[in-house]
Amino acid sequence: MLQVSSTFDSGNGDLVAIDGDEVRLTIRPDAGDKHLQWFHFRVAGAKGRQLRWVLTNASRASYPAGWTDYGACASYDRVHWFRVPTTYEEGELRCEHEVEGDVVWYAYFAPYDEERHQQLLGWAQEQPGVSLECLGSTLDGRAMDLLSFGAEDGVPCWIIARQHPGESMAEHLIEGLLQRLLDPSDALAASLLERARFYVVPNMNPDGSARGHLRTNAVGTNLNRAWAEPSMEASPEVFLVRERMDQTGVRFCLDVHGDEGLPYNFIAGADGVAALPDAIHRLRDRYEEVLETACPAFQRVHGYPRAAKGEANLTMATNQTAQRFGALSMTLEQPFKDDANHPDPEVGWSPAKCAALGRAQLDALAAVLDAL
Ligand SMILES: [Zn+2]
Repeated sequence: MLQVSSTFDSGNGDLVAIDGDEVRLTIRPDAGDKHLQWFHFRVAGAKGRQLRWVLTNASRASYPAGWTDYGACASYDRVHWFRVPTTYEEGELRCEHEVEGDVVWYAYFAPYDEERHQQLLGWAQEQPGVSLECLGSTLDGRAMDLLSFGAEDGVPCWIIARQHPGESMAEHLIEGLLQRLLDPSDALAASLLERARFYVVPNMNPDGSARGHLRTNAVGTNLNRAWAEPSMEASPEVFLVRERMDQTGVRFCLDVHGDEGLPYNFIAGADGVAALPDAIHRLRDRYEEVLETACPAFQRVHGYPRAAKGEANLTMATNQTAQRFGALSMTLEQPFKDDANHPDPEVGWSPAKCAALGRAQLDALAAVLDAL
């Protein structure tokens, strides 16, 4: 007898029917009903069976192209996540998997759940010189947490992640980045801490994360379209962070995301911000060059088309912070799929690789920090 559940932190997947070894589910839309793609559910009782599960409303996904050349993530211990054969046919996402455990979890990408988020904050605040500041509350009553550390009068560097809550790879990256930055035996980290003041928001959208959303907060706001005019009613997460940014100033801002379609790691800059000096645009190039060397999983060939000067969408964090502060602002994108330049059918793009890319950000930042 199969039992299917998504009633847990960041769960998403409503059971429609069980028929023999086949489970049919639908993805529950985000608040606001405009987006869906994140799924995360478990199946019990399938050990030794050839399980087939089907997401019947996959064609309604925000990015149906994300299902092409995609393998769903599975785990028996919720630590190691591996990919399982997945196809997108006739508007449905279908997976066939010979199950080896009593319970198996499936997800769009390796989850980064609320408990792990709290553990990360707890670990970080115990490191020397780290402050954990609560900026206020989300609409569901969760804390908007900010970690700050480094030189009091250092260059203000902001790193934020997971405005889009289904992009759990963003917080995996932050974990690697924080672990290196706060490693007292890492000389590069130590030299950055002497020159910079870091402000890190590991999760910009804790409500959406816990609710199992792809893209929005508790009331259906896409936070990365709320930076021009954030409000405490619709986008308190952005309102609180932008308000704090106004106090600290910003010279560097990295906004970490995941991309459903492109099987690459890449950066999108603030090309469309007309007021941004050419010197800052050149620093962005320098940052990318060093990052590519420090972590070959990052590449510069594939990415979004660059916006023409003067055509920046100022509702997005990267453009708003570039315009508002004249900062070197960048959006870092990682794949849900695999890194097509370094294919790894077993795990695809994975939490360990996210963390390594996070650690490599320090090499790139070190190359531009003194010019900021
Ligand atoms: Zn995103």
